[in-house]
Amino acid sequence: MRADAPPWLLPRAAYVHVPFCAHKCGYCDFASLAGSDHLADRYLDALERETAAKLGEPREVDAIFVGGGTPTRLDARQLERLTGMIRRWLPLTSGGEWTVEANPGTLDEAKADVLAAAGVDRVSLGAQSFQPRLLQALERNHAPEEVGRAVAIVRDRFPRWSLDLIFGVPGSDVDDWQADLDATLALGPSHLSCYGLVYEKGTALWKQLQRGEVDPVEEEAERRMYELVMDRLESAGLLMYEISNYARPGHESRHNLVYWANDAYWGLGLGAAQYVDGLRTVNTRDMPAYLKRIEAGESAVGPSEHLGPEEHARETAMLMLRRIQVGIDRDDFRWRTGFDLDALIGPVIVRFAAEGLLEDDGRRIRLTREGRFLADRVLCEVV
Ligand code: SF4
Repeated sequence: MRADAPPWLLPRAAYVHVPFCAHKCGYCDFASLAGSDHLADRYLDALERETAAKLGEPREVDAIFVGGGTPTRLDARQLERLTGMIRRWLPLTSGGEWTVEANPGTLDEAKADVLAAAGVDRVSLGAQSFQPRLLQALERNHAPEEVGRAVAIVRDRFPRWSLDLIFGVPGSDVDDWQADLDATLALGPSHLSCYGLVYEKGTALWKQLQRGEVDPVEEEAERRMYELVMDRLESAGLLMYEISNYARPGHESRHNLVYWANDAYWGLGLGAAQYVDGLRTVNTRDMPAYLKRIEAGESAVGPSEHLGPEEHARETAMLMLRRIQVGIDRDDFRWRTGFDLDALIGPVIVRFAAEGLLEDDGRRIRLTREGRFLADRVLCEVV
């Protein structure tokens, strides 16, 4: 691959996965492990070996995202090791962004100091809710007051930070969600991710749902919650820039923007997805298999898929449409994919525009406010 290859072939971003967690939350479908902290040093060895094998040489990037799992489940010494490895292999360009996810219950000043000293400039905190009974329903193991304590640590050290929230938690109503938004806004974040709860197959919460032990929030109430988040955050100056993400202008997550432009990115660690040179790969989610394969000098890649030009173009349209402000710009789309947008999905655009779900100003296509509620349906037809 040439060093001047375009951003959808040559990665300018990297995702690094740290799978350790204090305990498994009820809704969690991520590659995360509780009770495996004793494997952390061995995992870091494997991660460095995988990184060296995949990258071949240090690769300069504009965005690094260290997610999990809970990266801050590592102790300060291990975090120092991890960040040192990332600095060696993934030097950040000037003006680049380095995010680390943290859990309010596992972030302390010593760990935050290690991250800040390494050059991390953005922390994403998993708050989810400020109400003990909703945190309990999600089987989160932090208390609401720990969010405020973690925000105080983060605010002193990092120029950018974000909070994650979940709405539609069983047992919650619109007033609960309103109270969570009030508590969130009082902390003054410049970026928020707000996701509706999904009952992912196989999770503890999904099993409870199958057994009739939880009452899911009604569709109409969930719609009102989504409406509330759009309105409240916009009036607080946090613009919706993606279906589930809100930011003050200039505070959008750089890593997210790479993903929604369908640009290439490196993916390192357990269960990590990668998209390089048109090849989408996902590492195994099985920790013993990951360690054994990397230690034997083998690849940890599981399923992989080479996207042909048309598949890449359709996927690009679907991802770009998630971007609320930018949407799909016809010229940019042609430049990036080689396809004319209207030749590719013209009838879908016309139909959804007639239904009031898409707006088309001749240059850009964007989801309308109503279209955001039915985004899954629209995106599904596009791809
Ligand atoms: S902290 Fe996050 S990654 Fe870990 S179990 Fe909970 S939801 Fe999953």
